[in-house]
Amino acid sequence: MADLAIGIDIGGTNIKSGIVSRERGDVVKSISRETASDPESISATIRSCVEELIESGAVPQTDLKHIGIASPGAVNTKSGVIFGSSPNIPGWEGTNLKDIVSEFGLPAYADNDANAAALGEAMFGAGPGCKDILYVTIGTGVGGGIIIDGEVHHGVNYGAAEIGHMIIEPGGRQCGCGNRGCMERYASITGMMITAREMLGGRKSGKLYDSIGGNIDKLQPEMITREFKGGDPIAFEIIKAQAEALAQAVSGALNLLNPAMLIIGGAISESGPEYINFLSKSITDKTFPAVSEILKIVPAKLGGNAGTVGAACLGWVS
Ligand SMILES: [Zn+2]
Repeated sequence: MADLAIGIDIGGTNIKSGIVSRERGDVVKSISRETASDPESISATIRSCVEELIESGAVPQTDLKHIGIASPGAVNTKSGVIFGSSPNIPGWEGTNLKDIVSEFGLPAYADNDANAAALGEAMFGAGPGCKDILYVTIGTGVGGGIIIDGEVHHGVNYGAAEIGHMIIEPGGRQCGCGNRGCMERYASITGMMITAREMLGGRKSGKLYDSIGGNIDKLQPEMITREFKGGDPIAFEIIKAQAEALAQAVSGALNLLNPAMLIIGGAISESGPEYINFLSKSITDKTFPAVSEILKIVPAKLGGNAGTVGAACLGWVS
């Protein structure tokens, strides 16, 4: 009998769900729906995804062993309750993720989305066979996940791995967490775009500037990575600032944890080996030799499926 589970990844834009196989970590069937703006509608969407997956006939229902849910915010993995604020989903705090799917009668597991993605990458993505991993994902914010001895490290109040909120620029850019100068205000895509607008506005020249016809509102993140690969000096400066900011916080975390592997996730990790090589050098330069000499720095492998696969994995390590 096959061992399968349902994984649900709640994102600010989409709710991704799928049936995941324990044997290979592949998504056998998937359903994606837009994320509604209120908690009740989100819960209803999750239930309809689960119902559709179960009734799809893609796999025998008896092979489905559990449901795993990954969500933004701090998640009490024992109770399933969200207790950190989640700026993308107003009113989401206080929601019990496990209760949403209780009517299906399957064991339910819940965790923070970056923690789940880290576990997914550790089990089926870039890190199989590796038990000590730091995972960092770069999107609108910067998320982190720590895998120690094959398990997610949560900390005593489920607040571990918030690497995006390590302060790298005292008194710097205001962050949604209330502090100033957090790493994600410089190294996230949002942060990189702020840097890009500042730099382009000041210089008004170069291939990147020409590609937007001098209109900064037309700038897209992929234009920066493309011109970076093409050798445009301003695109290089923008990526350098992003990579340096990321490396500053990540090297500190690496010195504390001494993991075997650093996995870089998010769209930026798919922008080619040039970026990963550039970032690797910046991180290695800032990291203690005993830590850096064994460290492997690799791009994530699961792409957009990391959250769904990771959510399903929550029940395979518990
Ligand atoms: Zn912050």
